[in-house]
Amino acid sequence: MAKLYFNYSTMNAGKSTVLLQASHNYRERGMQTYLMTAAIDGRAGQGRIASRIGIGAEADTFTTSDDVFVMIARQLDQGRLACVFVDEAQFLTPDQVWQLARAVDDLGVPVLAYGLRVDFQGKLFPGSATLLALADEMREVRTICACGSKATMVIRQDEQGRAITEGAQVQIGGNETYVSLCRKHWREAMGDLPTEAR
Ligand SMILES: [Zn+2]
Repeated sequence: MAKLYFNYSTMNAGKSTVLLQASHNYRERGMQTYLMTAAIDGRAGQGRIASRIGIGAEADTFTTSDDVFVMIARQLDQGRLACVFVDEAQFLTPDQVWQLARAVDDLGVPVLAYGLRVDFQGKLFPGSATLLALADEMREVRTICACGSKATMVIRQDEQGRAITEGAQVQIGGNETYVSLCRKHWREAMGDLPTEAR
């Protein structure tokens, strides 16, 4: 039985590295994998998944208007696939997560999605929320806060290293940096809580 997997993490936990290693393990055994990533993320260049430790692989990109079921079906027409890997899965729309679920159920191909759980304001990305709802199996790719506790949150910092508390969920190409923190230190950096939660 094929399954939909969601491997979630905060920023800089090395999820792309984990994805690339897993794909490599299949390919080393002569099995085909299909790699997809969000076109919205310009970091790695169009059509490439790159990790911060220097490894990378070619990937098809999806935008929010693509039907990812169709993309996977088209790939399957060209031959057997051991599994599909989706990076930056937080950028999938809820509809696209359902398309992945249909690919798993109706095309019989395992799909491993890798993405961020929450944004810099501590809110679930819509794609991640739907994956949390639909995935057959979930696993956390872990990293740690500077204090040594598990980091589950992320702050967006300006060039002076100050935490930014407002802004769009997705911001590409600015000078902001992201730091992963435990919840306690995230609350300190953010001035405790987002206003709507007070
Ligand atoms: Zn901490």
